[in-house]
Amino acid sequence: MGSETPLDRIPGVAEYAIPFRTIVDAYRLKEKLRALEQSNGDKIRIVIVGAGYSGVELACKLAERLGDRGRVRLVEATDQILRTSPEFNRHAASQALEQLGIFVDLETKVESLTADAIALEYRGQVDTLPVDVVLWTVGTKIAPVVQSLPLKHNERGQLVLTPTLQVIDHPNIFALGDSAECIDAEGQKVPTTAQGAFQQAEYVGWNLWSSITEKPLLPFRYQALGEMMTLGKENATLAGLGVKLDGPFAHIARRLIYLYRMPTLDHQIKVGLNWIMQPLRDLLLP
Ligand SMILES: Cc1cc2nc3c(=O)[nH]c(=O)nc-3n(C[C@H](O)[C@H](O)[C@H](O)COP(=O)(O)OP(=O)(O)OC[C@H]3O[C@@H](n4cnc5c(N)ncnc54)[C@H](O)[C@@H]3O)c2cc1C
Repeated sequence: MGSETPLDRIPGVAEYAIPFRTIVDAYRLKEKLRALEQSNGDKIRIVIVGAGYSGVELACKLAERLGDRGRVRLVEATDQILRTSPEFNRHAASQALEQLGIFVDLETKVESLTADAIALEYRGQVDTLPVDVVLWTVGTKIAPVVQSLPLKHNERGQLVLTPTLQVIDHPNIFALGDSAECIDAEGQKVPTTAQGAFQQAEYVGWNLWSSITEKPLLPFRYQALGEMMTLGKENATLAGLGVKLDGPFAHIARRLIYLYRMPTLDHQIKVGLNWIMQPLRDLLLP
């Protein structure tokens, strides 16, 4: 059942910030942007909270979309963006943020939020800035229903698994993805990413069949394939399996890899056609 974005830890966030996790969140942002772009206001001020993958990707896309009208600010509590990324990707992302004129506030925490202002705390000093949209990409929490199951959980509420992806003490229950903590057969902690969940899915399928047919179960081995990030409409960065690439070539490579990873041919055709048609739509429907 994946994970959720916690919105209840800072005053005003649940009421005024837009999380970025579900398709409904994406439509909410789309509508808000459309309304702001059609308004008579001069600048459109956007604050994105969290300089992880989602925050950095969103900041680049929004700064590019809004152009001179946009004032995009990325707020991060720690002292660097993309803490878990390879240096190559972090560097490419920093350059993209700079080129797009995005303000990056490191070591800065959100204190509170109202309908049109955000209070930011930096080294003991609090500044309140006017804002049109706040996007909240920080944190993950496990669904209450998963947390309430009478099974072993870690301190974050994730189910704790054996390397064969069975819930501890319950060999007939398998779990995977964001809602589970797994140390694989090599002792690696499996990251809560689509890449991790996707790989676990094949093992869970296999192990379910094995347990029904009383065959030996396969211990899960996570293969880190690297990471890719979009940094605007035609810019991206990727690092993995000995390859490092950024700029327009990385953008094309990323799209081809995503297309390859789509679950069915139907998805591949729909998404591929959409990508081909998008530039035409942008031209015809300004
Ligand atoms: C904005 C964003 C961008 C991301 N980008 C990347 C990326 O580029 N690469 C990457 O590797 N990872 C990425 N991730 C992480 C990745 O999406 C997750 O790690 C992955 O989807 C986890 O898979 P999952 O199956 O555990 O959960 P999910 O993919 O979230 O699937 C859980 C499903 O369960 C459904 N569900 C929830 N509650 C119920 C219920 N009560 N009843 C029935 N159904 C329910 C949900 O609607 C959802 O469809 C991103 C995450 C976010 C939020």
